[in-house]
Amino acid sequence: MELRIGWLYPTLMSTYGDRGNVICLQQRCQWRNIDVAVVRLDQNATPEQFDQVDVIVGGGAQDRQQEIVMRDLQGEKAAKLRSQLDHGIPGVFTCGSPQLLGKYYEPGIGQRIDGLGLLDLVTKHPGLNTPRCIGNVAFELVSPELVAALEPLWPEPPIVVGFENHGGRTYLGETQPLGKVMIGYGNNGEDGWEGALHRHAIATYSHGPLLPKNPFLADWLIQTALLQKYNRQVTLQKLDDSLAIQARAALFKRLELSSLLKTA
Ligand code: GLN
Repeated sequence: MELRIGWLYPTLMSTYGDRGNVICLQQRCQWRNIDVAVVRLDQNATPEQFDQVDVIVGGGAQDRQQEIVMRDLQGEKAAKLRSQLDHGIPGVFTCGSPQLLGKYYEPGIGQRIDGLGLLDLVTKHPGLNTPRCIGNVAFELVSPELVAALEPLWPEPPIVVGFENHGGRTYLGETQPLGKVMIGYGNNGEDGWEGALHRHAIATYSHGPLLPKNPFLADWLIQTALLQKYNRQVTLQKLDDSLAIQARAALFKRLELSSLLKTA
């Protein structure tokens, strides 16, 4: 089996270390003898390449880079990305990326950046004098389908940990939230929601990178991509996640959430 990872604008949208999500997916495939290729979906990519990937990763970026990305992510490229995600291709989009999957992003300075309109959400930066949302974040996943799918992959409660750093505040319309904030700001520090979920696309403010800190999400993305591509449910070989488990336990302790762990 083979998976092709589409990496959105790697040069412009890797400001906050989200390339770690690509590396995590790649490695967790290779450890299972699943062939994996990484396709750079950027200004040099053709629209057809947006169709030829099985899972998509988008990282975070500064306002200026987001504006440059959206100048290119138009027309056929935008249509193919929307279609892929609408048809259930899995993906993980962090911070600046989901802001661009929404209706628009009003940056700290400069003009409104129109997004793809795939997610019913808008993002507004309150201005450069307003403190950014920075710090550790922990949230509980709220989608029953996603929680049920994760159950066999991870023995612990469906709590995601990460690190956020954003000026924009995101407000959801009809799109469902990804999680309920336990620690940190989440989408806007007001309504208690974090991220968004659209079919099998995860949108989140959690850098970290997200996937090495929450390997069950990486495995869910891999399993979902294989199901979509080969039309069969593949049971993934269990990996030694002892390091991730230790790292999570340490963070849960620091965030005073240890009581929520079964194996505290
Ligand atoms: N530039 C956007 C903001 O400040 C996204 C930041 C990010 O990707 N971490 O909200």
